[in-house]
Amino acid sequence: MDTYRELNVEFPKEIASIQQSVHRFAKDVVRPAAAQLDRLTDPRDVIALDSPLRKVFKQAYQLGYHVAGLPTESGGMGLRGLGMHVLIEELSWGAVDVALSLLCASFPFTAAAATGNPELYEKFTKPFIADREGAIIGCWAITEPQHGSDELVPGTPQFHNPRVSGQVTARADGDSFIISGQKAAWVSNGTLATHAALYLTTRPGAGMAGGGIAIVPLNLPGVSKGKPLNKLGQRALNQGEIFFDDVRIPRSWMLTAADGYELELERTLTFANTAMAAAFTGVARAAYEEALEYSKQRVQGGRAICEHQLVQKHLFEMFAKVEASRALSRAAMIYNQTSATPSLEHAIAAKTFCTEISFQVASDALQIFGGNGLSREYGIEKLFRDARASLIEDGTTDVLSLAGARQILSQNGVSFPAAAN
Ligand SMILES: Cc1cc2nc3c(=O)[nH]c(=O)nc-3n(C[C@H](O)[C@H](O)[C@H](O)COP(=O)(O)OP(=O)(O)OC[C@H]3O[C@@H](n4cnc5c(N)ncnc54)[C@H](O)[C@@H]3O)c2cc1C
Repeated sequence: MDTYRELNVEFPKEIASIQQSVHRFAKDVVRPAAAQLDRLTDPRDVIALDSPLRKVFKQAYQLGYHVAGLPTESGGMGLRGLGMHVLIEELSWGAVDVALSLLCASFPFTAAAATGNPELYEKFTKPFIADREGAIIGCWAITEPQHGSDELVPGTPQFHNPRVSGQVTARADGDSFIISGQKAAWVSNGTLATHAALYLTTRPGAGMAGGGIAIVPLNLPGVSKGKPLNKLGQRALNQGEIFFDDVRIPRSWMLTAADGYELELERTLTFANTAMAAAFTGVARAAYEEALEYSKQRVQGGRAICEHQLVQKHLFEMFAKVEASRALSRAAMIYNQTSATPSLEHAIAAKTFCTEISFQVASDALQIFGGNGLSREYGIEKLFRDARASLIEDGTTDVLSLAGARQILSQNGVSFPAAAN
C-alpha cells in the first residue's frame, strides 16, 4: 500500500490514518491467520474455540472494527462512505473470507440499532458494542434450502408469486411469534453465530414479498445448527444450516413485518452489494500486487519476467481493472451511505462488476505465477478460489443483474405484471 497511489486529492487525513492502521492489521494479523485457516481440511477446526479465526475476532473487536458502522456517540467508529470503503477494502486485501466473517458479525446488531427502539438497543446492540472478546457474533440468515436466488430479487414479478413462499415462517401467538423451518447450509457465520438477523416469512400468500426480519438469539430453545460446510474458496468464512423448531420470540424482536419487508430487503441488498464491491476491490488489488512483485523476482530468458513486454501488458491491464473497480465501488459506497435515496442498481452494478474484475485479475495473476500459481505454497490460488465464490455469494451475477435491470427499466417507464407464472 505504501506505493499504491491515492487518486483522491482530497483524501481526508483521518481516513488515511485509519487506512494505515487497518492495513497493518490486515497484513500482520488477518492475512497470516487466513492462510492457516485455508489449509485446515476439516471446517470444524475453522470455527473451533482455539481456532486462529477466534484470535482475529478478539483482536478486531478490541480495535473496535466490529462496530465500524455504528455512531461514535454509542462507541462505534462512525465510518460511512469513503471511511467504510477503506476499512472493507483493506481488511479484504488481507483476506476477504476473514473480512466478510467480521462484517457479517455486526449484521443483527446494526439492524436492531437502526429500528431506533431503545429496548432492542439495550438488549442486543449495547452488549455487542462492549464486547472485547469477539464472543458475540451475528449472521445474516436469509437463503433457504429451496430458496437461494428467490430471496434476493425484490421488485421482480417472481418475488410476488404467491406459489413461491419461504420455508422459515413466523406465526403470531399473543405477544409472541413462533418460528419454524430451516435456513440454508449457506448462512455465513451460521455455525459460530450467537445471534441471527433472520429473514423469514410472515405472510405466506404474498410469495417471497410476504417476509419479515427478526433478531433471534441462537441459544433459544428450539434452535439447532447443522455441520460446518466444506467448500471451495473463502474457507475462513464458514457456513452452516440453522433449524428452528417452534422457537418463541417476543413480538418486539420482529424488526420488520410483511408490509415493510420488500423495501427493507432492498435497503439490505443496497448495503450488502456495495460492501461486496469494496471487498472484492481489495481482493483484486491484492492479486495485482502479488503478481507485480513476483514478476520482479522470477527470471526467465535471462531477465525478470516483468521485462517481457507481454507480462507488462498483462500487469497494466490488471492495474487498470483494479482502478476501475475501486472507482465504481467507492462511488457506490459514498453515494449509498450519504444520500437520502440510496441506489440499489448502482450497488448491484458495483457488486457484479467488481467481483467479476476480481476473478479476472486473480486469474491473470495466477497466470503470471506460472506453475507456482497453482501451488498451495503461494497465496495466489487462494485469491483465485476466493474470487470465484464471489460470483455466487450474496446473489449470482445473473440473478442480481435481473434485479438491477428491473430497477432501471421501471425507472424508465417500463411496467411489469404483478406476478409471473
Ligand atoms: C460464499 C458464500 C456466502 C454466502 N453467505 C450467505 C449468507 O451469509 N446468508 C445467506 O442466507 N446465504 C448466503 N449465501 C447463499 C447465496 O446467497 C446463494 O448461494 C445465492 O443467492 C444463490 O442461490 P443458490 O445457491 O440457491 O442457487 P440457485 O438460486 O439455485 O441458482 C442456481 C442457478 O440458477 C440461476 N437462476 C436462479 N434463478 C434464476 C432466474 N430467475 N433467472 C435466471 N437464472 C436463475 C442462478 O443464476 C444460478 O446459476 C452464500 C453463498 C456463498 C457462495
